[in-house]
Amino acid sequence: MFVKKRFKLKKSVERKLKILASVLGCFLIAFIVYSSQIHSLTVLGYSRKASRNILFKFKKEYVLSVGENKTLNAAFESDDYNEKYLDQYSKIEYQNQKHIIKNINTLIKKGYSNSTISMILAHGNDQDVTEFAKRDKINYLEEFFSISYAKLRNYDRYVLYSNETGEDNETTVLVVNLDMDQDDYKNPTIVTDFSTDMLVNKHRSLKKNYEPEDLISISSKYAADNTQSGARVAVNAFISMYKAAEKEGYELVINSSYRSYQDQVELCDTYRNLYGDSYVDKYVAKPGFSEHQTGLSFDIGSRNSSVFSESDEYEWIQENAYKYGFIQRFPEKYEAITGFRAEPWHYRYVGKKIAKYIYENDISFEEYYALFLDS
Ligand code: ZN
Repeated sequence: MFVKKRFKLKKSVERKLKILASVLGCFLIAFIVYSSQIHSLTVLGYSRKASRNILFKFKKEYVLSVGENKTLNAAFESDDYNEKYLDQYSKIEYQNQKHIIKNINTLIKKGYSNSTISMILAHGNDQDVTEFAKRDKINYLEEFFSISYAKLRNYDRYVLYSNETGEDNETTVLVVNLDMDQDDYKNPTIVTDFSTDMLVNKHRSLKKNYEPEDLISISSKYAADNTQSGARVAVNAFISMYKAAEKEGYELVINSSYRSYQDQVELCDTYRNLYGDSYVDKYVAKPGFSEHQTGLSFDIGSRNSSVFSESDEYEWIQENAYKYGFIQRFPEKYEAITGFRAEPWHYRYVGKKIAKYIYENDISFEEYYALFLDS
């Protein structure tokens, strides 16, 4: 009796174990199949989250036919995924923006083409695109946005400026990006960090307490007096340039260099007393807006001539300054863009790479900034 009962129990356990084993087996097979499906997507660069959603939405075949695609990945990761737009997602260029899928949906609904949406996304950040997507559809966006550095958030100003001035699209984008469509000295961008490629002009100012990095005094061997100073990197570059010029028989001299905010206040006052307000407004940078405060600018002269622009040294420096990382900052041909009248004596250290580019391509530092430094 006892044995029989035990046998019976054993048999039912055995049956249960068999069922359990086959259930586990099924799960295992399902898991292996699922894992290999996920794997076929993750090797293409899809995230695990996106891959899971691709499987659950039965879009694996479609996704495999498209291959690696960051916008599709974002779509399958997003709560804003809309199956209707699947094909569009795969054709729109990806940008790393938080609401990319939501914004793409909105832009598709507004009637923009895939290529125009790609262009819109490429010219702004997440917030710019989100704001832009709220607007009614705009035609002919290409006229400005075929220019690589055009900014979505400046669109209205581009239209306004080009209508008012009749300037071509490229000039318009450049001028507006540099805030040159705004009044001088009004609502400037505040430049806080020292760097050899920093841009300071009538739309970009330094704070009162800004000081250049590594400010050093300049020996009177190289300067008109012993009160001059500058950022070490610029002073050293000037000394190299000075020595090269000296070898060829030219004598350069620094007449003015670093000026603090307070120095510029005093300079403005001096000129105001001498020549009046209108002269100062026109020709002297307001405190905070002078490049001399960066410590990277020098007014250079010749020891042999009182008029630098007529000296042999001037001819030499025009051809050689870039080799030492200097540019003539305010040439006559760029008066409209720099906002300063020609100053043949004012040189700015920007480093050899930028100076060479500017020399070879014959552009202003403002243009260089808009092209390569403005993010
Ligand atoms: Zn100067």
